[in-house]
Amino acid sequence: MMELQQTLSSFWTGTLSWDFSMADYCTMKSGGRAAALVVATSGPELSGLIVRLEENSIRWRVIGRGSNILIPTEGYDGVLIILGGDFCAIAGDPVLSGDDGRQTIRVGAGCSAAKLVGWSVVHQLSGLEFMAGIPGSIGGAVFMNAGAWGSEIADVIEKVSFIDRRGRFHDVGREDIEFSYRRMRPGDQALEGAVVVGATFSLRPDSKRRIIERCRSHVAGRRRKQPLNVASAGSFFKNPPGDSAGRLIEAAGLKGLRKGQAMVSPKHVNFIVNTGRASADDIVELMREVQERVYRFSGVRLEPEVHLL
Ligand SMILES: Cc1cc2nc3c(=O)[nH]c(=O)nc-3n(C[C@H](O)[C@H](O)[C@H](O)COP(=O)(O)OP(=O)(O)OC[C@H]3O[C@@H](n4cnc5c(N)ncnc54)[C@H](O)[C@@H]3O)c2cc1C
Repeated sequence: MMELQQTLSSFWTGTLSWDFSMADYCTMKSGGRAAALVVATSGPELSGLIVRLEENSIRWRVIGRGSNILIPTEGYDGVLIILGGDFCAIAGDPVLSGDDGRQTIRVGAGCSAAKLVGWSVVHQLSGLEFMAGIPGSIGGAVFMNAGAWGSEIADVIEKVSFIDRRGRFHDVGREDIEFSYRRMRPGDQALEGAVVVGATFSLRPDSKRRIIERCRSHVAGRRRKQPLNVASAGSFFKNPPGDSAGRLIEAAGLKGLRKGQAMVSPKHVNFIVNTGRASADDIVELMREVQERVYRFSGVRLEPEVHLL
């Protein structure tokens, strides 16, 4: 820790918190501490930071708004990076991109999904309604290929901007990126482990009334089905091909199962909720027990959607 402090302080003068409790940041309201949490505010600043971290062999990772991650109880012994400042911007006005009236807009990876959905309503541009009610950042949504109601972010992406692990910028067209269920992989090897710094979306004009109606209906659907008044990271497990994680968990009789203060939500069995002061260990133990018992009951091994860092 002392060594990390000395090295990082020698080249980083931006916003930084040492020994930061990630339970205060993540939507699960649980998890260990990050040795250092920094906020990068511009492309050049982030690029320079990555170069120095790599040179010094310091472990690092960019995170979004913590709505799909869990830091283990023992903590993260490197630098977690959040994108702030310039990265939160939606760039000016949308640009007409073809004969069919589609318009494109460039958005920084640090922008919240909620802000972009609100912006699309004001500008009467459709395509992002499915994101209404999904917490997190645009970087996180692109990295996770976030989706709901039969749509996913890949459907409206035209281009993604990255900074690779050597600090170099890349703009990559949708056709050169492989999007799959809750996963994104740029084809180019040089982009292995790269940071998403922005994305360009292609949206269709529609009336404000219709866009708002669709957003409202999605948010109402979430309120009906999801335990939104208690800390969680959304759906904990990925749906296996042709089935639903929730159906398998329910069939195995695990509704309401607890480990410490972590619980399989009775309202939505694919949500693991923190009913108070659940530790990351409680959550991981409960995750393993659900995996084990679903496997014994149905022969299917559930894979977590939540990233354990
Ligand atoms: C109540 C609730 C409901 C939810 N509903 C849905 C839903 O319907 N559909 C859905 O898909 N998800 C859902 N989620 C999960 C989550 O909101 C999404 O996955 C979201 O897109 C994650 O964004 P984030 O900024 O919080 O990312 P984080 O959770 O901070 O990070 C997730 C992963 O992305 C990586 N990452 C983040 N930003 C970047 C970046 N800029 N560059 C490279 N890697 C990055 C992180 O390292 C981590 O591996 C829900 C969560 C909650 C709490």
